[in-house]
Amino acid sequence: MNFVTDLDVKGKLVFLRVDFNVPLDDKGQIRDDNRIRASLPTIVWLLEHGARLIIASHMGRPKGKVEPSMSLKPAAARLAELIPYKVVMAPDVVGDEVERLKKGLGEGEVLLLENVRFYKEEEKNDAGFARQLAESVDIFVNDAFGSSHRAHASVVGIADFIPVKAAGYLMKKEVDYLKKAVHTPVKPYVAILGGAKVSDKIEIIESLLGKADHILIGGAMAYTFLKAQGLGVGRSLVENDQIEIALVILDKARTNEVSFHLPQDHVLAKAPQAGAETRIVEALPFPEDMMGVDIGPKTVAAYAAVIAAAKTIFWNGPMGIFEIDEFAQGTIGVAKAVAASGAISIVGGGDSVAAIKKAGVRDKISHISTGGGASLEYVAYETLPGITALEK
Ligand code: AMP
Repeated sequence: MNFVTDLDVKGKLVFLRVDFNVPLDDKGQIRDDNRIRASLPTIVWLLEHGARLIIASHMGRPKGKVEPSMSLKPAAARLAELIPYKVVMAPDVVGDEVERLKKGLGEGEVLLLENVRFYKEEEKNDAGFARQLAESVDIFVNDAFGSSHRAHASVVGIADFIPVKAAGYLMKKEVDYLKKAVHTPVKPYVAILGGAKVSDKIEIIESLLGKADHILIGGAMAYTFLKAQGLGVGRSLVENDQIEIALVILDKARTNEVSFHLPQDHVLAKAPQAGAETRIVEALPFPEDMMGVDIGPKTVAAYAAVIAAAKTIFWNGPMGIFEIDEFAQGTIGVAKAVAASGAISIVGGGDSVAAIKKAGVRDKISHISTGGGASLEYVAYETLPGITALEK
């Protein structure tokens, strides 16, 4: 994979895919511009070296229609505040007017295209649309790690029409870290998986069964595994259609040399609400009217002991409903253990990252991934569609 600094970009028309999918408030103001700032090293390098820069991103899920509330105009305004270069907001993604603006771009100038998902062809990876995006472009740079697990036109299809391609700084940083974790992890390698659904994480669990030394399970996911073993989990969130696959995973874990850990105690609540009556239990079945909302203190201690001996840690997904303070202790306990471990630690997923911040240990984590889904898929498959496209 080429890196952007390997290229001569002076006077060249460069198409840069970024992730400017920033959260907006109800007045359309940017709440957090981290994602824009995260791409600045690539943007500034390209502009300093005389590129004529087209920037493309998605924003939200407009489902192939023009949705003014999902326009990238606020991102253009913020970008113009952050860099000392001319930024022009395009009225569209493709078409005659956009082509005219592309051709008129000078060295060190930016044209930010509208939300690529205003066209349904984007998510379909439509070749005709990809060709239009690539029109007149000399170089394709992908810095949108968080979107690179999606085979979309501005991430994957476009690469077929532009011979010169490279990864940006953010993409390279992500891939360098994750590669270290998945290709040659320093052992013991501990994977911590939580969150709401097993179904989202089947592939990663299966792949980790052959690689990790320990898999620590938390979150609602644990209840699908416990129910699969015939245990009563009360009103806990369970994916009944995943019970069979959960059994297959438990079986594979027994035959592989991996320790598959499920919680040993649980915080139960009558409802997933602050102020609800709670109880800590070890024994199953749970009372019929209660649900598991967090891992208990005994589990935190057991997981912390495994984490303390780890040399590589990959974590995705909270251990409980951590958004509610009373149910956040398990996740915070795990976050603190990861921070104290001294291991190479990689945390992905908006919720896990929020939990790391809540625990106040952000600066003790080796790498916080900007892409939750993308980092999961990278760890599972050792590549992503957007990376393969750059390597073609
Ligand atoms: P995911 O996107 O799959 O990583 O799931 C994150 C969500 O899982 C968070 O919003 C958590 O509140 C939720 N979650 C974690 N543990 C539980 C649980 N025991 N019951 C219900 N939801 C949970």
